[in-house]
Amino acid sequence: MLDEILHRNICRSRAIHTEEPDYLIRLSTRQTPEIFRTGCSDSRVPANVVAGLDPGEVFVHRNVVNFVHSPGMNLLSAPEFAVGTLNNRETIVCGHYGCGGVHAVCEDMSHGLAGHWLEPIRRLSARFRDDIGRNRRTNIREERLAELNVIDGRGRIAEPPFPRRAWRRRGGIVGSRPDPRAERRSVAGSRLHNYRRRHGARQERK
Ligand SMILES: [Zn+2]
Repeated sequence: MLDEILHRNICRSRAIHTEEPDYLIRLSTRQTPEIFRTGCSDSRVPANVVAGLDPGEVFVHRNVVNFVHSPGMNLLSAPEFAVGTLNNRETIVCGHYGCGGVHAVCEDMSHGLAGHWLEPIRRLSARFRDDIGRNRRTNIREERLAELNVIDGRGRIAEPPFPRRAWRRRGGIVGSRPDPRAERRSVAGSRLHNYRRRHGARQERK
C-alpha cells in the first residue's frame, strides 16, 4: 500500500513537472492562500477538492465533525497563523451532510476518546432538541445538527481577540455571535442544498 502511494507520488510529480516545470518549485518557495478553512476530517470532503481549489490556495484545519473548540490551542493556532501571518482574506467554517461524528451523536453511540471529543456536539444537540426534533426522518435531523454545528462554529472562531483585531484592521465587519435559533441555514448549508437541487436530489426543505 505505502509503496503504491510513493509510486503515485513520483508519477504525479513527473506529470506536473512535464506540464509546468516551475510549478512545484514555485509552490515550495511561497505560500499565499487567501482562504482559511476549517472542516471535518472525513476523507470524502478534502478542502481543495470540494472547493475546486489548487494546492496553495487554501490553508486548512480539520478535525472530527469540525468542532470549533475555541479554547483549543490546536485550532486557534491555525487561524492565528492564517489571518495574522498569511493574511488570509476569507474564513470558511465548513460542515457536511452524512457526517459520521454527527451520526454517532444522534444515535448516542460511544467511540472512546472520539466520544469524549463529541461531547460539545451532544450538548449542542440537547440545546436545540426542539429544532432538530421537529424532523421525523433521522437523516434530516442529522443534517440539521450538522448545520447548527457550522453556525455555532462560525461564532466561536470569531471569539478570540486576534481574528477580530485582524479583521478590524482590514475594515471587515465583525458581528456578534450568530444565534442558530434565528438562522435556519448556514451559507454553506444553503449552497449544499442548491447543489442537491441542481443535481436532481430531493427538494430543499424549509
Ligand atoms: Zn464529518
